[in-house]
Amino acid sequence: MVSIKLLDKLQELYPQLVELRRDFHMYPEVSNNEVETPKKISKYLTDLGLEVKTGVGGNGVVGYLRGKRPGKTIALRADFDALPLQDEKDVPYKSKVPGAMHACGHDLHTAALLGVANVLSQLKDEIEGTVVFIHQFAEEVAPGGAEAMIKDGCLEGVDEVYGAHVWANDPIGQVSFNEGYTMAAADTFEITITGNGGHGAMPHETVDPVVIASQLVLNLQQIASRKTDPLKSVVVTIGALKSGEALNVIPDTAYIGGTVRSFDEDVRNETENLIRHISASTCHVFGAKAEINYKRGHAALYNHPAETKKLKALATNVLGEDKVFDKEPIMGAEDFSYYLREVPGTFFFAGGRNPEINAIYPHHHPRFDVDERSILTIGQVFLSLISEELIDKQNSVAMQPMSLQNFGGAPVE
Ligand SMILES: [Zn+2]
Ligand SMILES: [Zn+2]
Repeated sequence: MVSIKLLDKLQELYPQLVELRRDFHMYPEVSNNEVETPKKISKYLTDLGLEVKTGVGGNGVVGYLRGKRPGKTIALRADFDALPLQDEKDVPYKSKVPGAMHACGHDLHTAALLGVANVLSQLKDEIEGTVVFIHQFAEEVAPGGAEAMIKDGCLEGVDEVYGAHVWANDPIGQVSFNEGYTMAAADTFEITITGNGGHGAMPHETVDPVVIASQLVLNLQQIASRKTDPLKSVVVTIGALKSGEALNVIPDTAYIGGTVRSFDEDVRNETENLIRHISASTCHVFGAKAEINYKRGHAALYNHPAETKKLKALATNVLGEDKVFDKEPIMGAEDFSYYLREVPGTFFFAGGRNPEINAIYPHHHPRFDVDERSILTIGQVFLSLISEELIDKQNSVAMQPMSLQNFGGAPVE
């Protein structure tokens, strides 16, 4: 059975993949500053005999595994950038770079995808079609690496695209899927309110931007509570509110900054309009001026129903029914959304939570960590997809569910 062969090969590779993940983890590189990580990826793929393009859209790496016979082209994507955060974990593979950390699991995504490339490269002769391995830089910032890599042709000839994120809230071993809008669009805004400062004892001679800013913060709450269809969703969060220094001085300016999360493109557009309108008019009423800088971030992520159903069924087949769940949409953002705007596909979540090894902290937390066996869950789902679509079309239904306990692998610390 080809499929079992694939999973066996993944199992054999597990200690090496853990080592790879820990190497990425110890030497993280933040978004758009990835230099060594793409080199390591490119070397690994080249050593496997893949055709490799580097510098795709910036720091991206794309590997091509072309089968002997023609067929579909399927792209699998992993991101590899880290966050500007100090690693506060106490583990042997803790970040060695001050102020940089893999606190989202992108190191693990990369190790999993390299493992899948390794396994499939050993079965090259049996592949009908092409597998494209998209290793993406700069997912954590906007504009992210996805848009740049797509512009540079990483989706050329691709029929379907798939991606995964390890998920710290879900227990190790489980995977989850959602059809339709799954992750939000993430925009940011900054508002500078210019009033007219003066003595704290003589407010009538000033235009006080502190009071106007306070009013504006409250007025902006109405976008979600009163202006948006309750059956649709939007988040307007003000994360920064700054003004003044001295206790007896009314300052000239106040600053408000925040983020908007939405799924529906109309809701997104309307929210931007409302922020502009409410800010300008609130300031105008009290004689101040508003300068608004609204920046669009990653677009909302839409999982195509047919591909989601297909991958979910394959995941159920390989992991067992008790390991596959439905996911509620998440207000976080992910620039995998841009691939899904070009070609059909889906983005799924693989649990990484394990209290036994203290993998309990949320993404972007200085103590974030995940159970490394999620490399296997992601790998198994990807391999079952390629097996079904490009290798063993008749036989892959016969795959047997495998539990994570079947994997010896390196001990998790
Ligand atoms: Zn992240
Ligand atoms: Zn992430």
